[in-house]
Amino acid sequence: MQLTITKAQNLKPHPADDNLSFGKIFTDHMFNMDYNLEKGWHNPRIEPYQPIVMEPSTMVLHYGQAIFEGLKAFRNSTGAIQLFRPRDNFNRFNKSAYALCIPQIDEHFALDALKQLLHIEHAWVPKAEGTSLYIRPSIIATDPYLGVRASYTYRFFIILCPVAAYYAEGFNPVKIWVTQEHVRAVRGGVGHTKTAGNYAASLFAGEEAHRNGFTQVLWLDGIERKYVEEVGSMNIFFVINNTLITPMLNGSILAGITRDSVIKLAKLWGIPVEERKISIDEVFSAHESNQLQEVFGSGTAAVISPVGLIKYGEKVITIGDGKVGRISQRFFNAITDIQYGKIEDPMNWIEPV
Ligand SMILES: *Cc1c(COP(=O)(O)O)cnc(C)c1O
Repeated sequence: MQLTITKAQNLKPHPADDNLSFGKIFTDHMFNMDYNLEKGWHNPRIEPYQPIVMEPSTMVLHYGQAIFEGLKAFRNSTGAIQLFRPRDNFNRFNKSAYALCIPQIDEHFALDALKQLLHIEHAWVPKAEGTSLYIRPSIIATDPYLGVRASYTYRFFIILCPVAAYYAEGFNPVKIWVTQEHVRAVRGGVGHTKTAGNYAASLFAGEEAHRNGFTQVLWLDGIERKYVEEVGSMNIFFVINNTLITPMLNGSILAGITRDSVIKLAKLWGIPVEERKISIDEVFSAHESNQLQEVFGSGTAAVISPVGLIKYGEKVITIGDGKVGRISQRFFNAITDIQYGKIEDPMNWIEPV
């Protein structure tokens, strides 16, 4: 397949590195590729960032057959651009595609196309400490048809946006709220995929949490409403009695790449790790017996998000006096130092562009 490149005529001004946000400004170019039954995936192209024109009947708008990924490009100390575990993102993209009846993409081709796009948008990768270029690959169903079935046509696109350091104002622990009313996903559903509907399903509880002064929702399992699953759209870790504990992947939890990186580093450092069911009652009783040392979320956007307070029903606990824990800080430093090429990459996670 031949990738065609059409350069934008008018280039946008770049925001200053100290004036970045998240997800608002997009670069000059995007990657597009189409799928139909006759040709399969075809017409891969890099072209100016532009609207996708579609009929109101387009299937993705009605039935949510859509998947995405999220990863970042970093500028290292030599000025070169590098990606963090991008093959894992495209691999997970295909797993999401499979679950949503979307045709598989060629992962190598997609990574090559992304690299070409990044070459063209090189100057959009910000330089300031902690900043990066966020990458959003997505596939949407494009048949103009009302009726519930898998689409026969799709669009795969990749867009890019420069993003600020997540912790511009310091590494601040967040307050989280355990919802007893709502669930994010159930085993047998699509909780293990990055599909649009999972995020639509999380909005109501998220808004409720915000109204009550909390940053994120802590989700329990959909069946017994007892076991911890995720926090917001991050995976969650507990340090209890010097052991790192995270919910096992059970079908309703997203297999985060940051989660996997934390687990692999913990093993490298000799920190005991348990991937297992952990009930919210166990978390609260560990706190009661002074064994709950740290709680943090993990995900591409924040890398590590320390949790300082959890509310469950009428019970509230504070963790580590609301300060950032030593282990949370260590994971944050190690992962970001690898991402920015400040330290040796012990795991072969870095992909030069
Ligand atoms: C993307 C995502 C994560 C984190 O995955 P990373 O690969 O670490 O960014 C966790 N939970 C949900 C629901 C997600 O969508």
